[in-house]
Amino acid sequence: MQLRIATIQAVLLVFICSTLAVAEPTVKQIGSGLYAYISDNDSSANSTFLVGQSGILVVDTGLNTSEATKLLHAIRQVSSLPVKYIVNTHYHPDHQGGNAVVGPASVVISTDFTRARTLEAMKAPAMQDFHFHPADLTFQQQVTLHLDPYSVEVYFPGKAHTSGDALVYFPQQRAIAMGDLFLNRSSPAMDYGSVESWIAALDHVLELPLENVVPGHFELGTKSDLKRFRDYLNDLYQQVRALKQNNKTLEQVRHDIHMERYSDFRQYPKYEATFSDNAAVIYQQLQGR
Ligand SMILES: [Zn+2]
Repeated sequence: MQLRIATIQAVLLVFICSTLAVAEPTVKQIGSGLYAYISDNDSSANSTFLVGQSGILVVDTGLNTSEATKLLHAIRQVSSLPVKYIVNTHYHPDHQGGNAVVGPASVVISTDFTRARTLEAMKAPAMQDFHFHPADLTFQQQVTLHLDPYSVEVYFPGKAHTSGDALVYFPQQRAIAMGDLFLNRSSPAMDYGSVESWIAALDHVLELPLENVVPGHFELGTKSDLKRFRDYLNDLYQQVRALKQNNKTLEQVRHDIHMERYSDFRQYPKYEATFSDNAAVIYQQLQGR
């Protein structure tokens, strides 16, 4: 009996260890000095970091202290240089909750909109546990960072996932950090943005020379993964528009859309990130015109 218990314990230990081994963030070098950090927690965003000659730039810092500590550990495996800059792609806590841990002395950069929404969010009692560091430097359209020997283009692509996202393009590495404008094989959550201009923003990104596309969540993507996500948004947009033109109600639209081609897309009802939720947002945006 004792032997049996020992065997069960050993099996359990192997199981727990292998489960833990799976639940690890992955870090992949995707260009000279540039790394994609793919989070192992769906509730915490991916990050991208660029190691220059005298400092590091980090795009998005994860949900909280624990996620940011994992990210900082991964950065320190690559370089001990100071984190000079942090770019937050938008104001959602899963993208900026780790700012104070990853770069307590960093210059934080975002759009004006993201800073304003962050200051607003900090007033809510539920947000007291998040140690936000709102942007020190903001922009409306674009800003270029020079992290020798690299340059990085940070720009506002138009309303999309929110009304003030930022994309971060690394021309020398032919890579881009998309924030939540791109989730790999997943229906996205939609804040108060615009799906119509979101699709146009993705079309613009697809014209850039790119080899790697870092999504806000889930596995590292290629240009063709991004194209498929763009096609999903566009397909859904066209379907909802046609149904609405035929005077279908919101409930009918939710029911009548055909998304079989995207059956591999993750659905997250808890974040209102399903085909049906996305259709409802598009319907409301069309109505609000
Ligand atoms: Zn988001």
